[in-house]
Amino acid sequence: MPELPEVETIVRDLNKKIKNKKIISVEILDKKVFHLAKSDLKNVVSKKIKAVKRRAKMIIFDLGDYFLMVHLKMTGQLVYQTKNFLIAGGHPIINQDKELPNKFSRVIFKFNDKGILYFNDIRRFGWIKLLSKNNFLKLNNGLGVEPLEKNFTLEYFKKFLSHKSKTSIKQTLLEQKYVVGIGNIYADESLFTAGIKPFRKVGTLSAAEIKKLWSVIPKILKYAIKHRGTSFNDYVDAQGETGNFIKCLKVYGRAGERCKKCAGIIKKMKLGGRGTHWCDKCQK
Ligand SMILES: [Zn+2]
Repeated sequence: MPELPEVETIVRDLNKKIKNKKIISVEILDKKVFHLAKSDLKNVVSKKIKAVKRRAKMIIFDLGDYFLMVHLKMTGQLVYQTKNFLIAGGHPIINQDKELPNKFSRVIFKFNDKGILYFNDIRRFGWIKLLSKNNFLKLNNGLGVEPLEKNFTLEYFKKFLSHKSKTSIKQTLLEQKYVVGIGNIYADESLFTAGIKPFRKVGTLSAAEIKKLWSVIPKILKYAIKHRGTSFNDYVDAQGETGNFIKCLKVYGRAGERCKKCAGIIKKMKLGGRGTHWCDKCQK
């Protein structure tokens, strides 16, 4: 599933391309993915995209009074196509996907400049929802803190960890209730850089370790955004350019390989059902 850096990359790409464009039609091919009441059609069609934003792992199309929320989940993909280029984000795009629409196209938005946005999803866990401004604000207020925002303070981080003393630090980082957007990849990478073993109980972390982890999380996320995220994100433009954070990974997906720091072997085990990677020497 795409995590914060992958979703942020898609949002930035789309924002450049479809901000201020008007939706002229929406074609829903799969109501499981997007159930739009007939009475709500007017709140989408003929509306202008004021901005494309991100909250947690959701992509948000700000229509003014309404918000289209998109979650890509496991295999969702947004592809924006015009005559001259194609941009895509989410599940990696393969050649077969370039035939548009294809058998995985679930929702199709058409814009006033002839651009077309496809929501494709093989396994159909992804979704689109339309929320009124009030409902959007309610949802927004119920979500955890964004790790790249100012309110992700050390005080806040300490406070939320204090409720979790018996839980492993890795599982705590994955809990979206307190801090959003960190998934398996960036939890493992942050813990490596902070020098903390993922299965340590939160209650065993020293104040210095907590501070280190708190400072490392935003740095890694920003660095990953700079590299356009990890593997899930595939970008193809007219020049066929792609970007990837996969080369920068220190532990995630590297079980059995040499640690880039100490040359020891990267280990892997399941923790709360999730593959967890670490270096025994570099992490205490
Ligand atoms: Zn190491």
